[in-house]
Amino acid sequence: MAGTSSRWLISYVDNLPKGDEKGLFYALDLGGTNFRCLRVQLGGKEGRVVKQEAEEVSIPPHLMVGSSHELFDFIASALAKFVASEGNNYPLPVGRQRELGFTFSFPVRQTSISSGNLIKWTKGFSIDDTVGEDVVAELTKAMKRQGLDMRVAALVNDTIGTLAGGRYHDNDVAIAVILGTGTNAAYVERAQAIPKWHGPLPKSGDMVINTEWGNFRSSHLPLTEYDLALDTESLNPGEQIFEKLTSGMYLGDIVRRVLWRLAEEASFFGDNVPPKLQVPFTLRTPVMSAMHHDSSSDLRVVADKLRDVFGITNTSLNTRKTIVNICDIIAKRGARLTAAGLVGMLKKQGRDTKQRTVIAMDGGLYEHYTIFSKCLESTLAEMLGDEVAKNVIVTHANDGSGIGASLLAASHSQYL
Ligand code: ADP
Ligand code: MG
Repeated sequence: MAGTSSRWLISYVDNLPKGDEKGLFYALDLGGTNFRCLRVQLGGKEGRVVKQEAEEVSIPPHLMVGSSHELFDFIASALAKFVASEGNNYPLPVGRQRELGFTFSFPVRQTSISSGNLIKWTKGFSIDDTVGEDVVAELTKAMKRQGLDMRVAALVNDTIGTLAGGRYHDNDVAIAVILGTGTNAAYVERAQAIPKWHGPLPKSGDMVINTEWGNFRSSHLPLTEYDLALDTESLNPGEQIFEKLTSGMYLGDIVRRVLWRLAEEASFFGDNVPPKLQVPFTLRTPVMSAMHHDSSSDLRVVADKLRDVFGITNTSLNTRKTIVNICDIIAKRGARLTAAGLVGMLKKQGRDTKQRTVIAMDGGLYEHYTIFSKCLESTLAEMLGDEVAKNVIVTHANDGSGIGASLLAASHSQYL
């Protein structure tokens, strides 16, 4: 379409988990401000997920814009510590190497199920020397430096992991969406229908597509002056436009920009413009969400947040009501755009019918920003009509991406 761009990526995942996966597998989930290590014991058709343990580590901000070597060393060292805490509860046959599903939620051009080159960083990461490199090779080298003997069996992103995790529980899961720091979606496509696919047709006939919809942009997608300013000042100007309208990293900052403008042009907070309003990302989306959900009659939460975040005191109730309204407009725009994207995917799959379809959702924004999630679902119903919407089930796939990556490591194990 003219004026529209998006670059869908082929995942190399053509065998989603069936439920008979067995053994000890690890997963590493890197995709935002935190990363997680996970180990699971899979017990086959009967046992399912026998047990699992996870550990979350936050990434020091300087490593998000430093060198590739340092970032991967930090990750591999945390993983090595986590592996060392395994104890005797996770039996591994003698001579067998531990295997890992690596969830790496940035745009990657896959070259196989277990290799792929980073196209670009997003979500506040910016490390030049990783771009173009095989991130599995980077991780593998770092693991070696840490003395950790582990093989990356599957490289996926969080949407693919969530899709796999969702499928493990319900065969009608056809789409997975992440709404967290960033946003992305994946879906199951008939391999025959993929013009970019020149390999042999997979046995299942299906291939998972990573839409990278966060990078969608279109001349039909209206952008306000606040969106344009946010984009221009971002680490990745001109890119991830849809993500900048819909995801957790940015929603709060759009609100801040509107408030700043109101302060400058309409003395919204009195004669002076509160200086902190001018500082990018001072208003985080969880704080925006807390203000938006404030149900107290005098909007106490809004008052508290304004004081804590911006040092703004003595606002009138009307001012606070206006702020809640601004949050409402910005959150609902994001939610409705996301719903529209989902309807587009359902149509592409021919699933905008009465067939049962499950959409697996994950991510902090979806999980915690209730008004956003509710609006997303009601917009879906509005667009699909009640009859079709009844059969389109939106579920929260809690930690689908972690479990999903370990399942994909199992289904791509070297020991099969
Ligand atoms: P990531 O996307 O970094 O892998 P998550 O899925 O946990 O991690 O999402 C974290 C993001 O979710 C945060 O950056 C934030 O934008 C958003 N978020 C977390 N808590 C809330 C909340 N209470 N309300 C709204 N958004 C939230
Ligand atoms: Mg995540």
